[in-house]
Amino acid sequence: MTLSMVSLRASLLAAGLSFLASTSSVTAAELTGDQVPTSAGPVTIHPISHATMALGWNGLTIYVDPVGGAEAFAGLPAADLILVTDIHGDHFNDDTLAAVTGSTTKIVAPAAVAEKMSPAVRAATTVIANGATTSLMNVGIEAIPMYNLTADRLQYHEKGRGNGYVLSFGNLRFYIAGDTEAVPEMRNLKSIEVAFIPMNLPYTMTEEQAAEGVLAFKPHIVYPYHYRGSDVDKFKALVNAGSADIEVRSGKWY
Ligand SMILES: [Zn+2]
Repeated sequence: MTLSMVSLRASLLAAGLSFLASTSSVTAAELTGDQVPTSAGPVTIHPISHATMALGWNGLTIYVDPVGGAEAFAGLPAADLILVTDIHGDHFNDDTLAAVTGSTTKIVAPAAVAEKMSPAVRAATTVIANGATTSLMNVGIEAIPMYNLTADRLQYHEKGRGNGYVLSFGNLRFYIAGDTEAVPEMRNLKSIEVAFIPMNLPYTMTEEQAAEGVLAFKPHIVYPYHYRGSDVDKFKALVNAGSADIEVRSGKWY
């Protein structure tokens, strides 16, 4: 091989690499939404529906509680990592999981969810229990208990079944609460940059309870999600009245 052939091959290789790099940046751009900078690149927050979202970070795409069929994720990058919080239909749908789980996709879920999965979906799943931690694809994952405290809501979410999650992206911690009231495990969280907090009765919290829970652990940024029927402006006013250090943002959940 001549020297010019070698340099031609090298330049073709470089062109191929830059093509791949531009392809992946185009893919990442398909997730739209607010961006929160971390020590390892921004996290993109892409609301999808009631309790469902996609997060992008460091070349990864993460789906949280994917439901609504493959069409709910059309036009989005494929999932590298999927988190499922609980067994209810607004959080877990086996057909949707089967449709969006590729050969390299990893799922994290509690045992009660895994038990309801079809075999192929379950084979992609790492089961973690309340309080357990794991790390996948450089994302730290801690399962936080999510459950009801109010007597007439105890039937909806029993302690131990579902997982909220704290995800570590570089130097920052993001808390996805799942369907919960302001339980001690939420109130005692430390160093949360972004929190996703549910309302929506009778399953989770009133605006007052949600605001009071947020004020206990003081994330820097909070997004209400899973709030159908709740007054998000009232929640925001209550949080703002209690602390000037918490920013309440809104996204296209409901
Ligand atoms: Zn729910």
